[in-house]
Order: sequence, then C-alpha cells, then structure tokens
Amino acid sequence: MKLIFERGCEGQGCTLLPECDVPAVELDVPLRKTPLRLPHVSENELSRHYTEMAGQVHGVNNGFYPLGSCTMKYNPKINEKAAALPGFTGIHPLQPKHTAEGCLEVLERTEQMLCEITGMDAMTMQPAAGAHGEFTGLLLIKAYHDSRGDSRRRKIIVPDSAHGTNPASAAMVGYEVVSVPSGADGCVDLEKLREAVSDETAGLMLTNPNTVGLFDKNILEITSIIHDMGGLNYYDGANLNAVMGIARPGDMGFDVVHLNLHKTFSTPHGGGGPGSGPVGCKEFLRPFLPESPFGRPEHSIGRVKAFHGNFLVVVRALAYLLTLGREGIPEASRNAVLNANYMMEKLKDLYPMAYDETCMHEFVMTLEPLKRETGVSAMDVAKALLDYGIHPPTMYFPLIVHEALMVEPTETESRETLDEVIAVFREIYQKAHDDPQALHEAPVGTYVRRPDEVQAARKPVLRYAFTETEK
Ligand SMILES: *Cc1c(COP(=O)(O)O)cnc(C)c1O
Repeated sequence: MKLIFERGCEGQGCTLLPECDVPAVELDVPLRKTPLRLPHVSENELSRHYTEMAGQVHGVNNGFYPLGSCTMKYNPKINEKAAALPGFTGIHPLQPKHTAEGCLEVLERTEQMLCEITGMDAMTMQPAAGAHGEFTGLLLIKAYHDSRGDSRRRKIIVPDSAHGTNPASAAMVGYEVVSVPSGADGCVDLEKLREAVSDETAGLMLTNPNTVGLFDKNILEITSIIHDMGGLNYYDGANLNAVMGIARPGDMGFDVVHLNLHKTFSTPHGGGGPGSGPVGCKEFLRPFLPESPFGRPEHSIGRVKAFHGNFLVVVRALAYLLTLGREGIPEASRNAVLNANYMMEKLKDLYPMAYDETCMHEFVMTLEPLKRETGVSAMDVAKALLDYGIHPPTMYFPLIVHEALMVEPTETESRETLDEVIAVFREIYQKAHDDPQALHEAPVGTYVRRPDEVQAARKPVLRYAFTETEK
C-alpha cells in the first residue's frame, strides 16, 4: 500500500482556508529551518487513502471479534449520534456552569446510574482508562490509610488471575505487590490469601470475573479476610459486562471499583482511545475523590486528568444506559454469559477448557494437547482464524494457562454467528491433524502475515522515512 506521502504530487491539495481577517505578521525569527513536509493530495486521493487503510483493519463492523477481556461488542450507532450533538461537542470546560446545565446533568445522571449498578455511593469520571482508574482508586485507598496515620500499610495483594494492569497500577502508586496463587478451581486460594494478609496490607485488588472467566465463588470470604485485617477491597470492574444489573461489587464487600466505559458501556475501543475508567467508592472514601464540576472534596487526592475526563465517552454511556434501561442491562449480561457458555460447550470436546466450569462472559481453552499431538500452537490457530475473517481471541493470556486462547463472544453476536465460528474452530482442529504445515503458514490472505512481534512492540516504525533528497 502507498503511504500518504507517496500519493499525490506538488500543487495538489484540498484545503480551503477562510480568508485571513487579521493582519499578516512576519516573524523576525523563522520558526522552521525547512518547509513543513505535508502531503500534497487531492480530496479523492485522501479519501482513497483512508478507505484503503480502513480495509486493512478488523473491527466489530467487519466480523466476529472475540478478544477476551476486551469486550469488543457492537456499539449502537445511536450512542455516536448522541455524542455528536453540538451541545456536547461545542462545550468548553471553562464555560460558566449555568451555561452547561445539560452537560452537568449528563455527568450527574450517569454517576447515579453507575453507582446504582455497582452499589457504590460516589464516583469520579476523571480517569481516562481502566488502568488510570486503578491508579486513582489506589490513591483513594492510600489517602484513606494516610488520613488515619496508618502508614505501615504498604502492600497490595493481587491474585495471579488478575488483569496485568492490577500489579502495575499498585507499583505505580508505590505499593509492594504481593501475589496470591489460584487454586485448581481457578479461584483465589483462601489459605494462601490468609497467609499473605497482615497489618501491612493496604488492600486487595480483585479482578472479577477473573481472567480465566470465573466468578470467584468465595468472594464474600475474600473480602472479609481483607477487611478483618483493616485493609480495603478494590474491584476491577472492567469485566462488568458479565454481571451488570445482576450482582454488585458494593454488596460483596468492595470499597472501590473502576469500570471501563469503553468496554461495557458502549464506546468503540481498541484503537487507542479515548476511553473512560470512572471510579466508584463507598461513602467514607468520598472526601478523597478528585475534584468534579460539583466541587472539590475536603481531602481530595487532586486531579488525575484535566477538567472532567473524556466527557463524550460518558455521553455514550448514558445513551446506552437509557436505551437498555433497568431490564436491558441485566439482559445484556445474561446473553453475554449465555453466548460464552454456548461456545464453550460446543468446543470443549476438541479444545479442552482450562477450567471446566460454568464460565461468565469468557472462557479459556488450552491448546497444549493439540500442540503435543500435531505441533499446531495457539498462535497457529489464532493466525488461521484471520483467513476466515475472524479476529483472534486473546492469546497466551492469562499466563497461568499454557497455550491459552481466551474467547469472549459478547452478547451482541447472534446464534448464527456463533455457530459459524464454532464450525470454523472445528474445521481448524481437523486441519491441524490433516495438514499442520498449512496452519504454520497462516494467515495467507492478510496484508501482514506474521510480523516480528517483539520488534513491532519494541521498535515500532512511527515516522515516515523520507529519502535523502527529501530530507
Ligand atoms: C481492559 C482491562 C483493564 C485495563 O483497561 P484499560 O482501559 O485498557 O487501561 C483492566 N482490568 C481488566 C480486567 C481489563 O479487562
């Protein structure tokens, strides 16, 4: 594919700037030593460029996208429409409050509904992502202990089935991370948890449903173990798609929770943002929350982001909540769980499940036996799916399962689609036995086949390499 700098030619363009209505000023010091190298393309060249790029990516609008723990569900277009209303897009964060009543109402109503869904009393909309919410929530926990002069508490307990951002966020806040293993059933090992807690425990971060797709059956016991030792409980609610409207972290002994609006509450994601990771808390933590348009709490931890967070993501969430309503929200969760269990049941005779239990919104299979028998790995199967127009599941995660593929179908897929995908998985299994070499070579129909992933992650090429004469 040609890059934008390789299209068009000198003299072409498609900018129509309005006539300058202020006097032109010549700067004494030129700001640039060389002229800016902008592409010279006409409007249709530009349109072709973006259309071609759009054809190279896979989104929910192209096909099935079962990327586990990411909730790549279909986002109804009406939410985009709401977020594009001029009253929302044309607002300025420094506008006087009385001219922004509508936007304030959006923030307030969304907060109320999300507090009701999570069982929390107050919420901040500032954090821009899930991990950012974790960081903010941990700052609340730290501020709470500090306010009581309880500065011994320097440890955060994180089970090994947690999302990878949990230990990272705890380390960012300056906490020591104490890992607790899972038992054979995929849930937190209670004995090991009891050994890990002490009067140095600031809190526990629990991803629930955890990264193997299970709702921890001992959740009430887990939270009391921590509370009994004076620690606080943090609920990573990025996977709320499985439980929203059905079970509330606030009723299970959690003091703080973050949500990923860009997963559960209908903002497209995967391309780098914008996102929103609101943090809810119980009443006793309200005084530590970041500032909001409604005021600055007495012992606020300060701002974690400019102004009021990614406001338009909140608009989409409210549109989504209002569309689904009190009946629709739990129904979405039930269907997400049903779809995952349906696929799991229809695949588990060929692809063994890491934990053979009723799953929540996602399930994890292990391809260790397949690899042993045929040499075909989880990576090969993931790559083969691309040739069928299916986005791969999450691969090699969670780390506690070998040759893992983690599938999250979401509630927005129909039974027909699920059946088609099940058939593809079964066909690939057959191929692994008949012609493993073909799977080692997959994908054959994509622009990029098997990039060097380490190089791509560590040394991404983000700048266009102009030739010498152009430099
Ligand atoms: C996605 C995810 C996160 C991180 O969210 P970001 O918005 O990517 O920072 C945290 N925890 C869980 C369980 C997740 O699935």
